[in-house]
Amino acid sequence: MAGIDPLDGDFFHFADELTDDEQKVVARVREFLRTEVAPVALQHWTSSEFPHQLIPGFAALDIAALPYDGLHGPAARRLLVGFVSMEIAHADPSLNSFFGIHNGLAMGSIDICGSDEQRERWLPAMARMEQIGAFGLTEPHGGSDVARGLETTARRDGDEWVLDGEKRWIGNGTFADLVVIWARDVADDSVKGFVVAQDNPGMTTTKIENKIALRTVQNADIVLSGCRVPEADRLQRATSFADTNKVLRRTRGGVAWGSTGTMMAAYEIALRYAKERQQFGRPIAGFQLVQDLLVQMLGNITASLGMAVRLAKMQDADTARDEHAALAKAFTTTKMRETVALAREVVGGNGVLLDYGVAKFFADAEALYSFEGTKQINTLVVGRAITGHSAFV
Ligand SMILES: Cc1cc2nc3c(=O)[nH]c(=O)nc-3n(C[C@H](O)[C@H](O)[C@H](O)COP(=O)(O)OP(=O)(O)OC[C@H]3O[C@@H](n4cnc5c(N)ncnc54)[C@H](O)[C@@H]3O)c2cc1C
Repeated sequence: MAGIDPLDGDFFHFADELTDDEQKVVARVREFLRTEVAPVALQHWTSSEFPHQLIPGFAALDIAALPYDGLHGPAARRLLVGFVSMEIAHADPSLNSFFGIHNGLAMGSIDICGSDEQRERWLPAMARMEQIGAFGLTEPHGGSDVARGLETTARRDGDEWVLDGEKRWIGNGTFADLVVIWARDVADDSVKGFVVAQDNPGMTTTKIENKIALRTVQNADIVLSGCRVPEADRLQRATSFADTNKVLRRTRGGVAWGSTGTMMAAYEIALRYAKERQQFGRPIAGFQLVQDLLVQMLGNITASLGMAVRLAKMQDADTARDEHAALAKAFTTTKMRETVALAREVVGGNGVLLDYGVAKFFADAEALYSFEGTKQINTLVVGRAITGHSAFV
């Protein structure tokens, strides 16, 4: 075995499921995260400025091509893609979200919904991270019900389309070279996808300030006003919201890995702290009630990682359905939210200080819990599948 040490939170050594070569990829990513990302993560989180200087280092890891067939040979197993994502989140959930939006949502939209020509035109440069992507679905009035309530319009005008509307919360939106915009065709009411260049004069982006979670991620309010996009930049294989959903099905599984990495990091901080912090003349780790909290966290992590691993295998076998990804997203994010709160509790008063590490994970968990479909929405997806009754409205 090439051997990466399993993270302390990987109690059942799920990392052993990776091949030697896959472990080498994870080891390379971990080294970069520990030397380049960890030292600056908090500083960027507090200033809410994106660390653009890290992009070349990310690019050199050559991980953005992994999920995609034909960019660097065959696609990697989802298991490897998942472990890479878990490692990034373990170092910094904000950077994992940046990477997930670029690599999963934006590149995934082009991979799933683009023509062969469009895949060849955009994906190689995005895989090299020379061009960064964003994914514009959510709107000011359309969050959970965006499938039904999408208000941004697309009107065909000769060889061009004219987009009008507003998008909200779009991660990487302020600086991404390419923004995938989902809009409703006024002619037939269907949802279509468009790749809009950042310098398109019809698109303006404004950074959303004052977030309490994932502060390093640059979320944007976007206004599209008479935004002209050539027909050649309409994603040719996106003909309805069902196609948008194919992208989300893939990325919701990704959030399960990010959540697991987030809670694992919080647990490991709490465990270290509990062994060092003395009260009543001994380490707090020696108290039964503290051990109960730590073991509860470890159980949450192990169950979540087990579910993520199994989902990845089902995705590779093409047997994963929407409801599998939805359950993984809903379950792991719920367990993450509980776990980071328990970790914060173990660290006591210091747990509310950013300096002790756990507070950032505690705060970041809130965004993971709500994006890519809230707990309620993913629960309704699973509920519909197991009962045959839709309870959405
Ligand atoms: C940090 C961050 C990054 C994001 N990045 C992106 C991005 O890159 N691209 C993008 O397109 N979007 C992005 N989003 C948007 C995200 O996907 C939405 O916030 C999410 O889908 C929820 O929508 P909403 O915020 O409008 O909440 P709402 O839909 O208004 O929901 C509010 C509450 O009502 C509940 N609710 C709604 N409907 C029902 C129902 N039928 N039954 C029960 N409960 C219900 C919800 O579960 C939730 O608790 C991001 C969000 C955040 C916070």
